[in-house]
Amino acid sequence: MRPETKALLEKDRNTVFHPSTHLKQYAHGEMPGRVIASGKGIRITDSEGIELIDGFAGLYCVNIGYGREEMAEAIYEQAKKLAYYHTYVGHTNEALVTLSDRLINMAPGMSKVYYGMSGSDANETQLKIVWYYNNARGKPEKKKIISRDRGYHGSSVASGSLTGLPLFHAHFDLPIERIKHTMAPYYYRREDSGMTEPEFAQHCADELEKMILAEGPDTVAAMIAEPVLGTGGIVPPPEGYWAAIRKVLDKYDVLLIADEVVCGFGRIGSDFGSIYYDMKPDLITVAKGLTSAYQPLSGVMVGHRVWEVLEDGTDTWGAIGHGYTYSGHPLGAAAALCNLDIIERENLTQNAATTGEYLQMKMKAAFADHPLIGDSRGVGLLHALEFSPDRAHRSHFDPSLKVGPQVAAACLEQGLIARAMPHGDILGFAPPLVVTPNEVDDIVAKAKVAVDKVMDKLVTSGQW
Ligand code: PMP
Repeated sequence: MRPETKALLEKDRNTVFHPSTHLKQYAHGEMPGRVIASGKGIRITDSEGIELIDGFAGLYCVNIGYGREEMAEAIYEQAKKLAYYHTYVGHTNEALVTLSDRLINMAPGMSKVYYGMSGSDANETQLKIVWYYNNARGKPEKKKIISRDRGYHGSSVASGSLTGLPLFHAHFDLPIERIKHTMAPYYYRREDSGMTEPEFAQHCADELEKMILAEGPDTVAAMIAEPVLGTGGIVPPPEGYWAAIRKVLDKYDVLLIADEVVCGFGRIGSDFGSIYYDMKPDLITVAKGLTSAYQPLSGVMVGHRVWEVLEDGTDTWGAIGHGYTYSGHPLGAAAALCNLDIIERENLTQNAATTGEYLQMKMKAAFADHPLIGDSRGVGLLHALEFSPDRAHRSHFDPSLKVGPQVAAACLEQGLIARAMPHGDILGFAPPLVVTPNEVDDIVAKAKVAVDKVMDKLVTSGQW
């Protein structure tokens, strides 16, 4: 290791509190660190000069790929002109207005955009909007939010409560009250193996209806969901799922919040996952791909019927008591505008559809019959490999074997970053939208070597 890298990592271990990290193991040098130095296209390079294909686009956010000078220039130009002014009480800036107009035109049924800095704070805002909405409608009891097991919506107090993964609740005393979780539309892990996909989709909708009835329809305000379950395992919905869910929500006057933090801006080959699946959401959360992570920026898009009620609320109660210092930050807006230009000019959403289809096909060809793989699934440029020791029975490996992390580590040895998802033995792929079919070949070939290596290791060590 170069002396400069060693010194940096040592200082890092002594000073940085890293997210989603085993604090003690890292601080005591029992797990490696890596200093990321630069990036170009779908690749990043570390301080040792090792180049890696980023098969997960950071945290599925660097949609336009790394090292775009045009983005750096757009941010620089905006910073020279106006790096910041707040957007309280009607103050605005040109980049923000242009961006908002563009977003509203992209998202059918949406009326206004509220801005934050992260997916978590945007979902926090969603909750407050929904609560305010029902107070303004004279329905103060209608406040519960239904999320889903395995959903991921952030890790702040409220958004972490919406998240349906035990790791994000345990030891933090979450979830908070009024947040409930219904079943995940996880066809591969269905209990009744006789159900067809549409039958299973209807079963999920029936379970949602049962929950609404058990809680009392007058107490349920909204459902929040990702069009495709992301961090919970990259699970595309079963056929007919969204139509069946929307029907139940409409029946009980429950709003639908589409969390588009991952799917938004091209990831599955459509501007929004909610358009792809015809979800007809009342509210939309965006972040990540909005700026391809060149600046932190998130948005809450508010549909017409909710907006009208919010307006009436402030007519009665005065200015809305919700605002962040950085809401509508000009640097974020400038980055988002340039990012959307690039996505449009380079047809990246279309590329996510076509190269995405190629990725799905190649992954299935390589893994659908592989003895270590229980399921190979995805849509657009999102793919998951789920490991199982017994394909026929969809059984699980002993979690202590950490098969998912082992394969992720073996991918790294091949120069490929794939993500061991936090729950279950699932390996996720979500390359930048600029990925080419040749690069897909490379990603799949490297993943195949890694999976084979781990399988050999499990067999020779007698662990499988
Ligand atoms: N919603 C979804 C669907 C996400 O995937 C994430 C982040 N992975 C979030 C919300 C939270 O975003 P952030 O990490 O920016 O707070």
